[in-house]
Formats: sequence, C-alpha cells, structure tokens
Amino acid sequence: MNRRRFSRAFLGALGGSALSPSILSALSASSPITRLGDGGPHQRPGSSALAEAPHTFTHPRSPDLPRINGPRLHEWLKDLSRFGRRPDGGVDRLAFSDADLQARAYVRSLMLEAALEVRMDEAGNLLARRPGRESLPPLMLGSHIDSVPAGGNYDGPLGTLGAIEVARTLAEAGVATRHPLEVVVFVNEEGGKTGSRIMAGEFRPEELELVAASGCTIREGILRLGGNPDALHRARREPRSVAGFLEIHVEQGGGLESEGIPIGVVEGIVGIRRWNATVRGEANHAGTTPMDQRKDALLAGAELVPVVNRAAASLPGSQVATVGRIQALPGAPNVIPGEVHLSVEIRDMSMEGIQEVFRRVRLGADAIESAHGTPIALEEFYESAAAPTDEGFRTWVEEAAEGLGLAHRRMPSGAGHDAQAVAQFAPVGMIFIPSVGGISHHPDEYSRPEDVEAGVNVLLRTLLLADAGLS
Ligand SMILES: [Zn+2]
Repeated sequence: MNRRRFSRAFLGALGGSALSPSILSALSASSPITRLGDGGPHQRPGSSALAEAPHTFTHPRSPDLPRINGPRLHEWLKDLSRFGRRPDGGVDRLAFSDADLQARAYVRSLMLEAALEVRMDEAGNLLARRPGRESLPPLMLGSHIDSVPAGGNYDGPLGTLGAIEVARTLAEAGVATRHPLEVVVFVNEEGGKTGSRIMAGEFRPEELELVAASGCTIREGILRLGGNPDALHRARREPRSVAGFLEIHVEQGGGLESEGIPIGVVEGIVGIRRWNATVRGEANHAGTTPMDQRKDALLAGAELVPVVNRAAASLPGSQVATVGRIQALPGAPNVIPGEVHLSVEIRDMSMEGIQEVFRRVRLGADAIESAHGTPIALEEFYESAAAPTDEGFRTWVEEAAEGLGLAHRRMPSGAGHDAQAVAQFAPVGMIFIPSVGGISHHPDEYSRPEDVEAGVNVLLRTLLLADAGLS
C-alpha cells in the first residue's frame, strides 16, 4: 500500500472524529509510520521524537523518582481504542485485520516519538529499543494490542502503552538504565500467543496453516504484518538473551476491585489440563424401557458435573475445575441417551494441585460408574504447564507498590498471557490492576484512570529495581 492510500485508510479508521496531537503527528507526511511491513533494519526516531534529557544515574530507591504522565497515557488509550471500534464502545481488533495493522502503525509512531529505535522480527513482533549504559541483555516489557471479537480496550493496550509511557518518562527524565530496554508488541496473543511462542521456540510449523479469527492463516497474517514465516527461527530468543520481562495487565476478574486493592502481584500463570469424559450407557426406547432396566448415560454424566465442582471447591487454595460442554447421543426426546461426552478442565498454579483435583474427579467417576453400570473414560487432550513468575520480580513489585503507598496482594493469573511463553527464556514478572466488575473480553471491560496510572507507576519503579538487581 502506498503512503497516500495508507493515510486515507488510517483516517477512515478513525471515523473523522477529533484527532489527538499524537494521531495527527502519526499522519504527517514525513512520519515513518506509513512504512508498513518493513521487517528490515532498525528504524530510528524521526525529527518529531523528543530530545532526551541529559542522562543521570537515578538510584531505584531515591525519593524523587520520576512519575509517568497519566493524562498522556489516557490520551493514547483513547486513541488506540478507535482502531476497530464498535458502536457499543468495545473493539474488534483481531490479529492481522486492517484494524490491527493500523493500530500497530499508531503504536509504532508512539515508539518513535519516545525516541525508541523500532524494528520488527520475523514473527511480526514490534520491538522498540532504548540503549542501556552497560553491555547487558535487555530488560523487556510490553504486551499485545490484538483483541478477541467484541473485546474491550484494556486487555493488552494497558501493558503495551504503559511500557511505552515508562520508556518515554525515563527519556524525559534523562534516566539511564544499566540494561537496554526493549518494548515489545506481541503478535496474535488472543489467537494462541503466536508472537511470544515463536520467541520461545514453542510454535510448531504446522500452526502456520491454522486459520486465525480474522479469516487468514497465521502464515498469511505474518506476511501481512511484514514478517517472514519461513524464517521464524531467527525470531527465537535463547535463554539468558533477555535479562527479564515485565508485563502489566488488567486482572480480568473481580478480586482486586472487590477487596479495594490496587495492585496484584502475579505469582504466575496457572497450569491447565483438559479431559474428554465419555460415559457409556445403553440407548433404548424411552417409552418401553422400565426405569429399573436403564443404563442412562446422561443421568450418570449429569452426576459427574457436581463431582468436578466439589473436587476443586472442597480443597483449600485457588484451584478451579469446570465442565464446560456436554453432549448426549443420540440426542432425541424419545431415546434414552446411550453415550454422553463432557469436557473437564482443571487449573491451578501447581501441576501437583491439578493432579490432586483430578484424582478426586476419578474417584467420583468410579462411584458413578458402579452405581449406574455406565463406564466413564477420562482421556486427556490438552496440557499447558504452569508458569510461575520470578520471586525477585514479585518482591520488586511489592517494594515498588509500597514506595507509592499502594496496597498489594499476591495472586495467580487464571488467564493465559504472553509472559507464560516468555518464562521459557527469561525470568518474568507481572502486575495486575483492578478490572471494574471483573468484566473482561467484553466491550464493558474498564479500569479506572487512577488505577491505570498507579499501576504504570509501579511498572516504572519495578523496572528500575529490576535494572539494579538483575545481572
Ligand atoms: Zn491480554
């Protein structure tokens, strides 16, 4: 797409409403953001980028640490919400869609304005770098900007724009970190953590042919972003090539809000195991088979649902277990169900904890089996290992929150995040802020401006503590 056509598409996406100075500067003819899809060498900040203040050495525990610019961050969040906006205020910004491409161009313009050097890796991840004063591996921070269909405006954008705001605040204050900083926007988080899993070397080549939510294959999508699906190995990060990774995200649950705690110190991303449960009974005539002669697979399967619930609820801890799907066969009003399929999912921070819940499910299933004469098979079809965060990062997040007078508590993340894949090659830390009403993956997803600002100030301080503490 040439520059003129791109700018028109960009304007169209914004619906002609009042534009903030950031968007206007992004649209200026000299802006490098119109160079979509260049996976080439580093792109240096343009003339509109801020001039860095003279560098100082700021102690991470000094009383006069810089604070982020909250109003500016909110302006950026508002601007980003226009890409893929829905009439209900939510967003359709599926990975690889036009809205995703335009939003990435906007984010790139913010990176360049923040005096960061921008490049794209072969996976299509956007990477923006700020030099450090020592020769060390980079400290990485960031998140994603793609959304689920009918998603909200905080899941992803908070961590992405928060990271850019931190880098910009450091530049404006002239704070020179020991480690280089690398701000990252991961590709297709919502559709399977494509970008971060490619970095971790977890992505299998056959996944390139899977169809993404926006309708193209992952291969086509990566090409669309300007990446190179045939050279994904070059985007891989080896262990110890990144000093640490830090992500701020909305909680996506109601715990912090209901307790009035502004900062969640994430202990890790829970492990997940899923099983297909098959209950075998005998299909027979619903009118002529007496009640004492039935092997009703649905009756037995229905009893498994509370068994799964109690297996998790009866133990102390934050483990959860769910039957999310049930199907009775043959599925006719006048036939006793002969076979029933259910899904069983268990999540916990500890894989041993998951095993213990499953042991209780199996015991309960055995009891149902003998009571009804209906064998129950439980076949595992999915496993995702728990990804604990680094203890150093947890204590730095706590210290940062305390320095700002903010209450905090430790908690697991029940949802998956890019940090889970990054944990394969670097120590990771995560910060949660409250989601109002616990609503997420929905247009009503919302976090209060004061919580956003407090959280990103914690991100900034945690980064400085990690910069001093990590080798
Ligand atoms: Zn997210």
